Amino acid sequence: MRWLSSIDHNISNMELQTFTCSFERLSSREEVSPELQGLIDASIAAMKAAYAPYSGFSVGAALLLENGVIVIGNNQENAAYPSGLCAERVAFFAAGAQYPNLRIIAAAVVASSAQYTHGDPVTPCGGCRQSMLEYELKQQHSIPLYMISPTGEIIVSPSIKQLLPLYFESKGRF
Ligand SMILES: [Zn+2]
Repeated sequence: MRWLSSIDHNISNMELQTFTCSFERLSSREEVSPELQGLIDASIAAMKAAYAPYSGFSVGAALLLENGVIVIGNNQENAAYPSGLCAERVAFFAAGAQYPNLRIIAAAVVASSAQYTHGDPVTPCGGCRQSMLEYELKQQHSIPLYMISPTGEIIVSPSIKQLLPLYFESKGRF
């Protein structure tokens, strides 16, 4: 049996397409509106209430709805590991359940670890990106995502869509 270590493509004969991911870096929450500061504060409060006894990695998420209500979520872990859920999905599913017809204006996510320090803003896992995107597509309006570091630095993605190139969609994209 022959094992393949790589497959060479002749890219000169293919049409290359490129995805661009643009984001904004903010040095502190003072650079956003008071309304968004409230959203960020809500995500931090949610993070502090996370149930993360196994990973020690607490994540908080918060969504600002068009009526001004903030819906929060945090990671909920379980002794049977896969049965838990990420903070982002807890928040988005809660908003979908409680306010199914209200537009999500913005989202924030923040994390901290009891075991180690990390300085970078936290970014959602792939599963959460796909889940969050569903709501963005459903409401037909982009959802800016504020990703916050424990040191206060913030990365802002103008939409969920750009965080997940070639995302799965039942109707097809092209
Ligand atoms: Zn996740």
